[in-house]
Amino acid sequence: MKNLVRTIVIVVNLVVMMTVTAFAANVTQLIASGHDVYDQQPESYKIAVNTYFERVPNSVIVLFMQRGGTIHYTDTVLVGQQDVNGIYTFDSKQITLKATSNNNSWDEVQKAPVHELGHFIYHTTQPMFTDQMKADIRKLYNERKSYDNRCYNEDETFAALYSDYIKFNYRGGAHAMPSPEYRVFMQAEDLCQQMLSYSI
Ligand SMILES: [Zn+2]
Repeated sequence: MKNLVRTIVIVVNLVVMMTVTAFAANVTQLIASGHDVYDQQPESYKIAVNTYFERVPNSVIVLFMQRGGTIHYTDTVLVGQQDVNGIYTFDSKQITLKATSNNNSWDEVQKAPVHELGHFIYHTTQPMFTDQMKADIRKLYNERKSYDNRCYNEDETFAALYSDYIKFNYRGGAHAMPSPEYRVFMQAEDLCQQMLSYSI
């Protein structure tokens, strides 16, 4: 019985590895509408967004796809505000992106797909946060709310700092994490891994 269980575990792991490898994610693989808008963007945009996007663990991308998540590009103004680069719609798991922005920084435009994915991670894993994870995100929000206008609630703080976490490749060790609380992002990614459903 034990051997059988072990065999099943190995098979499941192999299936997951194969599934995960198949979706080494590029933004284009998740676009459900607005391909033309994406295609019109300069190469510098495509390289920049995909450089960041490809650093997101595949388990997060696969979970996003399993939950029906999709990316939609548009060239219209979002929620009536010129400086909004992206929206995440919780119910439909839709990420809507605008690749050009009149008022916002190029840096934020490049990070927008990962920022919106950060909202997916937060909304999906937050009910399973440990007390330490809850305390970490609360502390990051409280520290930044007075000077970082991206951080106006815990949800936005998570998404904004997740995009920084990916940009600076803290998990990959390219830079040291600015504070221990950044562990919450790695732990939330781990929760995504645990939430994957396996079919064998
Ligand atoms: Zn946001």
